[in-house]
Amino acid sequence: MTEQPTAGITLRELRDKPASELKAVGPKLAPRLEAMGLETVLDVLEHYPRRYHDRTNVADIAELAIGEQATVTGEVKKVSVRRPRGRRPFVEMEVFDGTSYLRLTFFNQEYRAKIAEGTEISVFGKVDLYRGRRQMVNPALDVLGGPGEQTTGILLPIYAQSGKADVHTWQLRKIAAELLQRTRPRGFADPVDDDVLRARGLVDRTRAYEDVHRPSAMSDATTARNRLTFDEFLRMQVGLVARKRALERDRSGIEHDVNGALVAAFHAGLPFPLTKDQENVIAEIASDMARPAPMHRLLQGEVGSGKTVVALTALLIAVQCGHQGAFMSPTEVLAEQHELTMRSLLADLRVAADDTLLGERPVGVALLTNRTSAADRRRIADGLRDGTIDILVGTHALIYEGVEFADLGVAVIDEQHRFGVEQRDVLRGKGSEPDVLVMTATPIPRTAAMLIYGDLDRSQLRTLPAGRSPITTEVVGASPLERSPVYEKVRAQIAAGRQAYVVCPLVEGSDKLVAKAATEEYARLEREDLAGLRLGLLHGQMHSRDKEAVMTRFREHEIDVLVATTVIEVGVDVPNATVMVVEDADRFGLLQLHQLRGRIGRGAHQSFCYLLADPVTNEAKARLQAMVSSSDGFELAERDLEIRGEGAVFGERQSGWSDLKLGRLPRDEPIVMEARAVAESILDADPELEHHPQLREEVEDLLGDAVEFLFKS
Ligand code: ADP
Ligand code: MG
Repeated sequence: MTEQPTAGITLRELRDKPASELKAVGPKLAPRLEAMGLETVLDVLEHYPRRYHDRTNVADIAELAIGEQATVTGEVKKVSVRRPRGRRPFVEMEVFDGTSYLRLTFFNQEYRAKIAEGTEISVFGKVDLYRGRRQMVNPALDVLGGPGEQTTGILLPIYAQSGKADVHTWQLRKIAAELLQRTRPRGFADPVDDDVLRARGLVDRTRAYEDVHRPSAMSDATTARNRLTFDEFLRMQVGLVARKRALERDRSGIEHDVNGALVAAFHAGLPFPLTKDQENVIAEIASDMARPAPMHRLLQGEVGSGKTVVALTALLIAVQCGHQGAFMSPTEVLAEQHELTMRSLLADLRVAADDTLLGERPVGVALLTNRTSAADRRRIADGLRDGTIDILVGTHALIYEGVEFADLGVAVIDEQHRFGVEQRDVLRGKGSEPDVLVMTATPIPRTAAMLIYGDLDRSQLRTLPAGRSPITTEVVGASPLERSPVYEKVRAQIAAGRQAYVVCPLVEGSDKLVAKAATEEYARLEREDLAGLRLGLLHGQMHSRDKEAVMTRFREHEIDVLVATTVIEVGVDVPNATVMVVEDADRFGLLQLHQLRGRIGRGAHQSFCYLLADPVTNEAKARLQAMVSSSDGFELAERDLEIRGEGAVFGERQSGWSDLKLGRLPRDEPIVMEARAVAESILDADPELEHHPQLREEVEDLLGDAVEFLFKS
């Protein structure tokens, strides 16, 4: 070995240096960079060019034809602000490229006037004719050369700049150039071994940073970006795979007896046979729970696929062994609904109790949410301690301090993207290595699941229980004229003995405002469009008792139409409901609409979903169109990813686990798979990353404290 692996520069070193240490930054520019979020030398290094300006692909101004789209580069000759009477001011600019002049006109972009005469710029836009002269209106503009800058390369990196912070692309280019020049003698420490890089066709890190900032050909820039994107995903995957293995290594879990009488009695008492998928998933869970390593499994299943029965089975496996179970829901309404469902499904079951006359008692189920009274809380605390509560259902109130189980055997988390790794760990900590089952109804594309749930084993319920009928979905304009036939259809269904949901518009602001809007919509419908029908109202601000009462009346068909906020999104289960009207449907996310629609189509009757909307943006149109053309959750999830990109995946969760500067989904799926494979093989050979100190350091820096338990044996 000739090279010292530690000789190269590490990212951590650069993270610990303020950007102002670079001469090109200095004290003047430093606060402006900071305003753009660039504080350290590492931030600057990772502020990659947005794109590269290709000088070979530039038109001569003299040759431009009217109507043509073209890129032109030239020198700014004259800048002026025009202030026509009674109209808004605009900026006019003349550019000269040696062949001819072109006029540029900028509306609503007064800051363009700050560009100095003599600046070299590039513009891209459509050529049109105005008062006999060719011009471009509001073209895309990049400032190319800075004062005194030599921009002779063919590919010129263009950085995201900030008008507000007064930082320009040429300044960023200069800073990057200095950074590269100063790092060149040592080069960068590479977290990935040479042979792996060669086998995967990846360039080394030193070359990647060089080429991303100063490529001599487009292909070099692409190769560099691939390598750096790979690094981003590799860090995450090493974290996730290491977490998964740390959990598997643990031998201190509970070896549940999965063949007890309670589960058998539960299955025998169900009013339906289990689906094949349910049987398979239950077998996977049982095999996990029987092993000494704690279970860490994700159960993915469409709305209505029957996850509750699976979850209850897991809970009862623990209960029949004398342990307790916890079931955590994302919302109060859901927790209440689940508690009711469980109570009724468990009504006939008995567990052993030596201190009672018959030697047995019903399964103890309790509900804990933020609304639970102090008295009930005390009662629950006692029941948890003396073991008479077997199953505790609730919201995140379950993970609060002071909730203590005598013996937690399994925790089920119905998460809908609302809980994160940390909360999972807190609930786990309420027991001694309990088994954990995470459930989600949000269909997640495979690669995305690999990013968010890469530390869990996965099970799926793909097929719905038999006896479901399809749902017809239509987008309908929101005007009174267009919506009135929808209300006629609602009436017709109700006349036929069915029930309906009306989902209220999504209003921004507090829960109180949402509740107010729902109350108004309810009053309006009762007065006008749905007058004479039996209406009910459900929103999150209502008292639990009232919510329960409304749900019970709806379930028992004392209410025809339930006017509700998105509190009905998941879990609500009334098979007789066959119509759903969603107000302002264009304001809901695609998967949220899918979840909502999952409330209907649960029985044997044909169901109808009406999405009231006049979508304006292309994205909204695409979402609604997707809803009409598919009812398959996985298909919709893939669509959602295409429409929204990886923001769809990382929305509310796990900021620490994702720090993507270049990586994008679904575009970079192949790189994710590659990174996963490399992460696995690295950890196979070197579980503690003893021989990969650089990689280990980067994973630590990504995950912070969360990394603590990953690499200890
Ligand atoms: P999820 O929680 O996955 O959305 P649920 O567990 O609420 O779905 O189940 C939806 C409905 O299907 C419930 O009414 C449930 O009783 C019913 N169900 C569950 N499993 C079966 C089955 N194997 N056969 C028929 N119906 C079932
Ligand atoms: Mg459910």
